[in-house]
Amino acid sequence: MAETTPTSQSCALCEQPATQACKACKADVDLPAVYYCSIDCQRTHWVEHKAECAVGASRTALYRAAQMARDMFLDFNKQTWGDKILGVKERGNVLRIAIQELSVNAIYVPFPKDLGLSASDEAAVLSHCACTTSLAYMWDVIGVLLSGRDEILLDRSSG
Ligand SMILES: [Zn+2]
Ligand SMILES: [Zn+2]
Repeated sequence: MAETTPTSQSCALCEQPATQACKACKADVDLPAVYYCSIDCQRTHWVEHKAECAVGASRTALYRAAQMARDMFLDFNKQTWGDKILGVKERGNVLRIAIQELSVNAIYVPFPKDLGLSASDEAAVLSHCACTTSLAYMWDVIGVLLSGRDEILLDRSSG
């Protein structure tokens, strides 16, 4: 029921050093998790932890859905990129993107692979001026993710 992580924490029951997080509600990187020193402590603490665990599991599911939605949005923009990137420069905390907009009739231009950007900078470039796109397309995707259905039909023709 528990899985070992490299981080040392305190056991939720006996407060001894603990390295095993409750797997059911184990959160992702930037969310807290509940730790135990042993399976026995985890079992004994379950009555107390049960309700909190359900909340944590829902939170983790939503967090993962949001991560998936973000990844799909970035990949969608990558596959349907519309402008020619002339260059990207970082000055302080500002990314300056030089783009050449192509005509509306142009075929999609592949997103360049050799920009040498970090993952977060690439995400910033891909999200540049994409507010309306994300609202239009991601509404459907997020709805499917939260509904548990496994097919995504993007149909903008009906409005
Ligand atoms: Zn313990
Ligand atoms: Zn839990």
